[in-house]
Parts: sequence; structure tokens; C-alpha cells
Amino acid sequence: MRPGPRAADVTSRCRLCGKQAAHYLNHAKMHLCENCFIKYYERKVYKSILKHNMLRGSRKVAVAFSGGKDSLALVKALHKILMEKFPEVELEVVHIDLGIPGYSEESRDLVEKICDNLNVKCHVYDLSAEKGYVIPDFQATPFRRRICGACGTIKRYLMNKIAYKIGADKLATGHNLDDVVEVLFELYLRGSVEEMVRIRPVSWSTHTKLVTKIKPLIELTEKENLYYVLSHKLPILSAKCPLSKNSRALKRKKLMNMIEAEIPGFKHTFYKSHLKRIMPHLRDSIREPTLIECKSCGMPSLSETCSYCKLISKLQKSQITHISNE
Ligand SMILES: [Zn+2]
Ligand SMILES: [Zn+2]
Repeated sequence: MRPGPRAADVTSRCRLCGKQAAHYLNHAKMHLCENCFIKYYERKVYKSILKHNMLRGSRKVAVAFSGGKDSLALVKALHKILMEKFPEVELEVVHIDLGIPGYSEESRDLVEKICDNLNVKCHVYDLSAEKGYVIPDFQATPFRRRICGACGTIKRYLMNKIAYKIGADKLATGHNLDDVVEVLFELYLRGSVEEMVRIRPVSWSTHTKLVTKIKPLIELTEKENLYYVLSHKLPILSAKCPLSKNSRALKRKKLMNMIEAEIPGFKHTFYKSHLKRIMPHLRDSIREPTLIECKSCGMPSLSETCSYCKLISKLQKSQITHISNE
């Protein structure tokens, strides 16, 4: 029988230095100790930054920090890489308090604690205080089954707006290989080629109010992000978002992990083939959409009213109906 994925055990030795191993990387069939893993991880992030020119002409990078292990790994690694290799680039953190009971408080505390420790400026945006609604409000609307999608629209919109307001020229997110492969899988199934073009390491700005988005962790897996956080003995959130428990994205990630268990390296191959073989054709045939300014909020939009303003107006309408029905 073929051996399954192995965890590092007491007898495993680090491939690079021979000390006792702490982590086993399935796709690379390699044991590493904590120190060598940290170096390996940071080298990979640094190489992604260079390969895709992520910090070209940068003065200030805003990092979207939710408090989860992926964005935590991103803040820690990027902070170190900037200090060592790009000392002229400033890093500031943006956190959105989504107002989800039993989840948002813990996330916010963790974000503030980490930023304090790293001495990094932290912009906390409190959705309830700033906008007068919270994500759980969508539960009483027709969006309840697509609440993760609604939350995603809100976070993308606000993150860009805050990054723009604080004068950042890049917005870094903790999107990792698992996220990208899960989304690509769905887009391939649906044949959504226009959306596929947007799944890339860097989305360059096409409007003065649109900040360039970078994904420095795009070639790292969720597991590697977890190992990095553990190797640095950083705190991990005990709470999980109660609203995304049964999301389709999580189900697809489970499926991708089942394939990876049978075919080690599947996720890396899928992503690399997409980027190298498919993307050049898509880029040639699909034009970047022209952005105009939303007539309600003035931010970049594909149509007269941006997707954020449309969503919020639907939320308000359903709240009015809800209240008048009571
Ligand atoms: Zn080692
Ligand atoms: Zn708008």
C-alpha cells in the first residue's frame, strides 16, 4: 500500500541541517526543522514578490489582516522581508471588525496585539460604528445563503477604499494556493473565463482610486501558513467564523485536499499550468473592463452603481420590509 501523508515524527531529520524535523511538506516530500522551515517559507514569499514584481515602485503597502492564520503569516513574513530587503517601503495593517459575535472580538484583539508587538500601524474599521450594519444582519435577508459572497464584496470594497485613503499603493492579501485552486476549480467548472483572468498574483490598478492588489502567499499552502505561524509560536484564533461553516468554498477545499492526498503536488500543478499555459491566451483574448465612478459613492465601478452600493441598498430595503412586517 502506498504510504499516506506523513507528519514529522521524532525520528525524522531535517533535510537541510539534519536536526530533528518539525514539519513534513507533502508536495515537496521533505522534512524540515522549525528554523529551516522559516527560512524556506520566507524565501518562497520573497521569490514570489520578485518574480511578479509585486513591490515595483512601492512606498506603502497596506496588509489586509483578518486575524486568521493566513493573514497572520503574511503580516509576519512581509514585515520581516520589507525590513530586510525593502526598507524604503512602509507597512500598515487594515482590519475590518465585521461584528460577528464570538468571532470578531477575538480576531480584533489578536490583530491589535500582533501589530503592537511588531510596532506596525493598525487601522481598525468598525463596520457597526462606521456604517451602522454588521455582517449577521444579512441573515435576515435573501442573502443568507450567500452570506460569504456578500461579506467578500464588502471586504473587497472597504479594503480598497481604506488602502486608497491611507495612501497605500499596494494592498496585500493572504490569499494562498488553496484559495486560488478552489476558486479556479469552480471557474473551470462554470467556464467563467472572464473571472479566471482576475485570479493572478498581482492585479494592477486600472483606476486612480483602485489600489493594486498583491498576493505574496499565492504559492504557499494553508498548511505551510499554519506551520509558519506555529514555528514562530504566534497565537492562533480559537474561534472560526460561525457564518462560513458550511460554505461551498470550504466544501471545495476539502475536495481539493482529497485529490491532493491521492496526487501529491496536484494544487501546485493546477495553479502553475493555469498561470503558464492558460493565462497568456486569456490575456490576449479578454480585455480589461473599463471602470467608471459609482454615482452613489464615487469609487471605481463596472456599472453606474458599484456592487457594494447595490448590495447595501438591497440590505436596507429588506430591513425596511422586515421591520414593517413585524
Ligand atoms: Zn533544519
Ligand atoms: Zn458605490
